[in-house]
Amino acid sequence: MYHVLVSDPISEEGLLPLINHDSVTCDQMPIEAAEQSLELYDALLIRSGTKVTDNLLKKMPNLKIIARAGVGVDNIDIEAATRRGVIVINAPDGNTISTAEHTIAMIASLVRNIPQATRSVKDGIWDRSRFTGMELNGKTLGIIGMGRIGTEISKRAKAFGIKVNVYDPYLTKERGEKLGVASVSFNDLLESSDIITVHTPLTKETKGLLGFDSIPRTKKGVWLINCARGGIIDEEALYHFIKTGHVAGAALDVFETEPPKKNKLLELDEVITTPHIGASTKEAQLNVAAQVADEVLDCLQG
Ligand code: NAD
Repeated sequence: MYHVLVSDPISEEGLLPLINHDSVTCDQMPIEAAEQSLELYDALLIRSGTKVTDNLLKKMPNLKIIARAGVGVDNIDIEAATRRGVIVINAPDGNTISTAEHTIAMIASLVRNIPQATRSVKDGIWDRSRFTGMELNGKTLGIIGMGRIGTEISKRAKAFGIKVNVYDPYLTKERGEKLGVASVSFNDLLESSDIITVHTPLTKETKGLLGFDSIPRTKKGVWLINCARGGIIDEEALYHFIKTGHVAGAALDVFETEPPKKNKLLELDEVITTPHIGASTKEAQLNVAAQVADEVLDCLQG
């Protein structure tokens, strides 16, 4: 019998093949609640909530696989897992469309002040002149990171009449041409974009990619979007350049610390935000759960 621990909320419907499998016992509870029986488990299924540290792995000597229902694996100490012979997998495709759609929704909401206007109307204020927005048609969107999500955003942006420039050092010329996007240098993207959205992983190279050095090289009045990982846009720099008026506004689904605590960005009207819900749709949750359930079964059964 294989013991599986699901320590973050993951779609039960998607996990059914695992839950109903004859040779699997599946416990669904937070890691703290499973503290007494950690040594039992063969597989650990998580989202972004569970922090898989070397210390946790030490308490799970039987563990063979960690499955992240979603993309980002920055909450897992991959080096420690590898050293202990534990396989780490994720479900990279399942939430691509949801996150791309959320990013488009954030862009549209940001440039038309929709959250601020909603609040104003609900407060009994009917002020039509305060919320003059910007049309997307004819504008240039700079996409940093042309992977799964960046690609889906580029397709949707084109339907708005937006010109798409892309910076991704790993994008081949052929793939760029096939996708119908202009592959440009980082500097050209900064200088040419009315809106910049980041869709890279958070790495040493991408941490603070938009920061004190690079934001001044953008157009005055640029809009910045981060629905990828907190820290790719440096929060201190973002605050500074919104205050100086260089950045018109920002839409953030993610933060350097989540949930954000005493974060000055939350005091700014120019910042709209959601609580890391880019992938939070029924469809995406079902997709990623089904994908990891399949992969965990394959792995356990050899
Ligand atoms: P992906 O791996 O398909 O694409 C990432 C792209 O970034 C790749 O094309 C890669 O070449 C590029 N890249 C890497 N380093 C770069 C650099 N220094 N400069 C420019 N480009 C660089 O990933 P994805 O599935 O498209 O996910 C993108 C991001 O979105 C990840 O950070 C992921 O964690 C995040 N994400 C967030 C949510 C959410 O809920 N907000 C949901 C899913 C994914």
